Amino acid sequence: KPEYAFIGRSNVGKSSLINMITGKKGLAMTSSKPGKTQLINHFIINDSWYLVDLPGYGYAQRGKEGRENIRRIIEDYILEREQLTNLFVLLDCRLEAQKIDLEFMEWLGENGIPFSIVFTKIDKLGGGKLRENLNAYTKKLLESWEELPPILLTSSEKKEGKEELLNYIDEITKSL
Ligand code: GDP
Repeated sequence: KPEYAFIGRSNVGKSSLINMITGKKGLAMTSSKPGKTQLINHFIINDSWYLVDLPGYGYAQRGKEGRENIRRIIEDYILEREQLTNLFVLLDCRLEAQKIDLEFMEWLGENGIPFSIVFTKIDKLGGGKLRENLNAYTKKLLESWEELPPILLTSSEKKEGKEELLNYIDEITKSL
């Protein structure tokens, strides 16, 4: 089964987004690898694909060694998991482009990993400010990318963007 993985810095709103998508109800979970159950979780959404919850990166409180460890686990999954079909990189729409996110996306590009951007917490910004931030972000991306990745907008608070995200995943899955 194809896997769609979600990743982002701690506090970006990943747990909230996954809760919105899975709806919490009737949720089944399987561990991908023994011993890594708390780090990489698979959620069964329907018969056609798995949602994969990857750990948050760059979490200062983990310390240097902890961060390196997490990074290795994330990179191993991304590089070695054949079922991984698309990665969703979560970005907080309120923040300007962060080095750690830009470097991570560059690493994905270098390794040929397909990814899309999900801007989270869009309810926190008014339409004008949101557009301004997104424009600034895409401008920054275009400094190192020829083309922009697909971009989705979500608010777990307001339950926005759920159908778009699910439809997007269904379209990719159907095309496999
Ligand atoms: P994670 O660390 O990436 O899993 O982030 P969480 O899902 O735990 O969210 C971090 C904080 O942001 C929490 O206080 C959430 O309530 C808040 N948050 C997450 N998503 C949204 C959203 O769409 N809108 C708003 N206003 N707050 C959000």
